Amino acid sequence: MVVLKFGGTSVQDGTSIAQALDIVAGSLSGGLLLVASAMAGITNNLVSLVKALQNGEEPLARDLLQSIAKRHFIVLEAVARGANLDAGRKQLDLHLSDMEALVKGSLLLKDCSPRVQDALLGAGELLSTTILWAAALERGWETQLFDARAFIKTDENFGEAAVLWPETFHAVQGKLTCPRRSVSIIQGFIGSTLAGVSTVLGRGGSDYSAALFGAALGASEIQIWTDVDGIMTTDPRKVSDARSIPFITYAEAAELAFFGAKVVHPATIQPAVERRIPVLVKNTKNPSHAGTKISMEAPGSGLRAIAGRAGVTVVTVSSSRMLNAYGFLRRIFDIFDRQRLSVDLVATSEVSVSITVEEKRDLRPLVRELEELGTVKVEEDCAIVCLVGQDVWKDNSRISRVFQAIPEVPVRLISLGSSDINLSFVVSSSDLDRSVSAIHRVFFDPKEN
Ligand code: ASP
Ligand code: MG
Repeated sequence: MVVLKFGGTSVQDGTSIAQALDIVAGSLSGGLLLVASAMAGITNNLVSLVKALQNGEEPLARDLLQSIAKRHFIVLEAVARGANLDAGRKQLDLHLSDMEALVKGSLLLKDCSPRVQDALLGAGELLSTTILWAAALERGWETQLFDARAFIKTDENFGEAAVLWPETFHAVQGKLTCPRRSVSIIQGFIGSTLAGVSTVLGRGGSDYSAALFGAALGASEIQIWTDVDGIMTTDPRKVSDARSIPFITYAEAAELAFFGAKVVHPATIQPAVERRIPVLVKNTKNPSHAGTKISMEAPGSGLRAIAGRAGVTVVTVSSSRMLNAYGFLRRIFDIFDRQRLSVDLVATSEVSVSITVEEKRDLRPLVRELEELGTVKVEEDCAIVCLVGQDVWKDNSRISRVFQAIPEVPVRLISLGSSDINLSFVVSSSDLDRSVSAIHRVFFDPKEN
């Protein structure tokens, strides 16, 4: 069996739902689990609803609830008729009246507790899957609608609950059934505590749900259906020649995600990684495109993708006391630790250490502490170029091609070797885009290769 996860834009209206179900039809014979997000924009509306309740803004809260309800009824009417429409309406009404009660209670108490927040935030998935269920019935399919809260077991960290894997796997096995020639439907994003209180897994959590279900059910594949043709060789908004990557390893995808390739976050597919289940990223609007397959081993070699990240600061500590001394790096890193600053790249020489951090924070307290160890230089407005590809950098000629592509760009720091799949270097922010394009052209332009 396979798990198919559809994101918000894939279930946002009647047309998208029809496209999603056409895709589902292709997997019916072997049995499948359809995992869905809330319709696009709904979770954001629910966040606004929670805020309105926190501020005691009754009219706004009521408006939001009403418009959420209306949008779902309209979509339901577009995908189901007769008895299926009635069944869908009845089920939507049940969820909406729960929401109504939560809203009313919060307004009466002038309080919106974390438990209430999670119950409301997760409602979008309950509503969207109700519509999918009615739409699947309308196609005449054997259909079962499950409640993810009975399976995904979490701690009580409301808003971003951590999944209890053993309890979840135990709950799924044997009880979440996906018979052949039928469709089983379930919500992403939501779960419940061991005591049965509703929780959510954090924004964007549906991919994680899909991976958990896939792992627990021993799926042969997890398909993430979204609105792009998979993971791209680089940011298509910046480089028009960017193209979709057919195959990528889990490790390569992890390196890329850190640099902002947002398609799927590796942390979310961890359950699939552990069970070695391939994850396929596909485009609901362009289903014939092969998309990207993420797996343990990927065919092909060479440079897989280029990512860039601006907003980086390089902090360099220099001291002659470092020469032949030990424990110096530990002292430097202790300071970063105390300042709770996450270090990205590091390069060292005998007498200096350069470290990159994200530019979000006031670094003065860090600098003050570091100055006790040596001279400190802070360079702002830097950027990291990250080149990812399994085993690429074993070949020196590839490294030289990288730097030959950008002869006039000053390079501040180079990091290679900590993993054999990633070559990263720092340039000034103003050089980022042209560096990425130039290197992309050298490695990916069919005319140049
Ligand atoms: N609906 C949730 C969100 O918007 C979860 C998801 O889409 O993955 O964050
Ligand atoms: Mg999403």
